[in-house]
Amino acid sequence: MSKTALITGSTSGIGLAIAAAFAGKGYNIVFNGLEKNGPGIAAETAAKFEVDHLFFDADLKDPGQIQQMVAGSIAAFGNIDVLVNNAGIQFVSKIEDFPDEKWRDLMAVHLDAAFRLSKAVWPGMQQKRSGAVINIASAHGLIASPYKSAYVAAKHGIIGLTRALAMEGGPFGITANAICPGYVLTPLVEKQIPEQMQVHGMSREEVVEKIFLKEHAIKAFITPEAVAETALFLANSAAAPFITGTALAIDAGWTAH
Ligand code: NAD
Repeated sequence: MSKTALITGSTSGIGLAIAAAFAGKGYNIVFNGLEKNGPGIAAETAAKFEVDHLFFDADLKDPGQIQQMVAGSIAAFGNIDVLVNNAGIQFVSKIEDFPDEKWRDLMAVHLDAAFRLSKAVWPGMQQKRSGAVINIASAHGLIASPYKSAYVAAKHGIIGLTRALAMEGGPFGITANAICPGYVLTPLVEKQIPEQMQVHGMSREEVVEKIFLKEHAIKAFITPEAVAETALFLANSAAAPFITGTALAIDAGWTAH
């Protein structure tokens, strides 16, 4: 029987690349995301790789919708073998102006949802005595930048959650790892380019070079496919059963200095 991967935020960017990578290995895919054309993106990706799939437009800020998504997935596929907590949002502001509700949204999507989803898939993984939880953290889980207090706090938090899950999962053959990408050119980053152009009075090229790629030792954006390969390695390789509790940087050298 095919294995099943549930990937949050998988109708865009990094999550979609992860979904395609696991579909390429024959996994059933549970897609999730808030994109309007989410059902179409999910169906198209699943068809390309000839795998079974489900799509849920569950808003991860809502614990009830998370429960329904997990229950629906288990009812259809029997078990969830791989959980990828990927969905994410960004908000940039000085701390003194940072709106409380934006702080709460970031915590809800990045941290609370990852906790609730891990909790919901855990009994099935324990019973099967195998499973992998992969949390898409960020270089901002390891270091900070100004004006991103909620994002940096949430990403540091998800690495803590990853380590705790690794401790609890070990005896049951469940691994938990975090991936810490540098900048990846997805809609999340694309959206920030015009804002930065305006704030700094720079051209697009200058913003890319002087803001986004400034700290990358390798002066390139990381590709979504490279992050997806890393996720596959952590869940579905000969090394995977022996790697747990890590925060693996794929950040073009950003955190090396
Ligand atoms: P993206 O905007 O392309 O995709 C984000 C996905 O999350 C979308 O599918 C969106 O619908 C979904 N989402 C957002 N809020 C949601 C909610 N409340 N409920 C359900 N789904 C929701 O962004 P991306 O760049 O692919 O980001 C994916 C992850 O990678 C995020 O956790 C992000 O923090 C992390 N990350 C991104 C970068 C980067 O440079 N792009 C770098 C490091 C880490």
